[in-house]
Amino acid sequence: MKSFEIPNYYRSLIISKLKELRKNEDPRKKDFSPTALDFGPVKFLIARHFGFCYGVENAIEIAHKTIDDNPGKRIFLLSEMIHNPLVNLDLQSRGVKFIMDAYGNQFVEWNEINSNDIVIIPAFGTTLEIESLLKKKEIDTVKFNTTCPFVEKVWNRAEDLGKENFTVIIHGKAKHEETRATFSHSKQTTPSLIIRNIDEATIVSKMILCDIDESEFYKYFGGKYSEGFNVAKDLERIGVVNQTTMLASETQAIADLLRETMIKKYGAENLKEHFADTRDTLCYATNDNQSATIGLKKEEADLAIVIGGYNSSNTSHLVELLEEKFTTYFISGAEKIISEKLISHFDIQSRREKATENYLPHKAKITIAITSGASCPDSVVDDVLNKLLSFFSGTKNPEEILKSLQP
Ligand code: SF4
Repeated sequence: MKSFEIPNYYRSLIISKLKELRKNEDPRKKDFSPTALDFGPVKFLIARHFGFCYGVENAIEIAHKTIDDNPGKRIFLLSEMIHNPLVNLDLQSRGVKFIMDAYGNQFVEWNEINSNDIVIIPAFGTTLEIESLLKKKEIDTVKFNTTCPFVEKVWNRAEDLGKENFTVIIHGKAKHEETRATFSHSKQTTPSLIIRNIDEATIVSKMILCDIDESEFYKYFGGKYSEGFNVAKDLERIGVVNQTTMLASETQAIADLLRETMIKKYGAENLKEHFADTRDTLCYATNDNQSATIGLKKEEADLAIVIGGYNSSNTSHLVELLEEKFTTYFISGAEKIISEKLISHFDIQSRREKATENYLPHKAKITIAITSGASCPDSVVDDVLNKLLSFFSGTKNPEEILKSLQP
């Protein structure tokens, strides 16, 4: 896979080295078990995959190059390039301004933007409506476009489904910029509907089987279906596409339910006519990171730490997975580990940070499972390891441990 030029301060001594070792050892990514880094009194179990993905590195490279190549120009980003506060602050410190937040709330009015400005399109992509607005202002929408190719792949798959007269069901969050962009592209070609979870898929299933009244659909899915959506006709042929921000296992459960629904309604022999196989829309990084987290969950640990931006849906899903087994602390960086007795962490249910005392158990040796989101730099994970190591005496040297892992 292509490698990118990203600022060196995002790379790290321990994690980047460890990733390289695992990659050389398992280039085909068959092994999803974590790596154990045993420092003596504390052992870290590091997930097989996490951190910057292709799309994130590509976006960071383009954004920094744009800043370097255009001194004196006003540079805007449509919204957060990725959901990591450090990466966004870094760009803001270099003069980049955000036009809106992740949910489309405007910080800079459109009339303040003109053809002399540069507008960077983030990795999540944007809607056709915003793209056309930028074109009208004679702003280049190609050169500074960091849309991830794996996001575009979902748009292309939706378009293909549309050409075959399938309705596109998007498993995503209706307000998230990635889903808004996919919906905007998909509805150009075919009727489209956004569903958030298995509960909403159950409503669609009941609708297909005529178990609930059609009027309920329009009430329930207000704002989430394309204009002119016709329940009676547009749910006869469907395909499900997945957003990178969702849990892969949930998309699978949704697809399985709708597939079964079609078999029930039309018979297994007619399935192909009514349900499109779309297993290929899941991005590799989401797949790898979630599979590696499931691999981490198979191990035994005293606690788990997930590092990443609190707005990152991808990272929140890693927290959800680990919470099923471990006491899990979701932190944005090492500064959230206030001392060996106190940690400040984000609660994904209440969506607030809270403080927990005595998060490290009193044991002769403790094991901590660690992973991070696709928008988290390796250097932040290193900082977390180093902060935790500083609470223990007699720990081994990280370089020695890495050397011992070499074949
Ligand atoms: S998580 Fe996947 S789709 Fe999203 S930016 Fe990374 S590679 Fe692209």
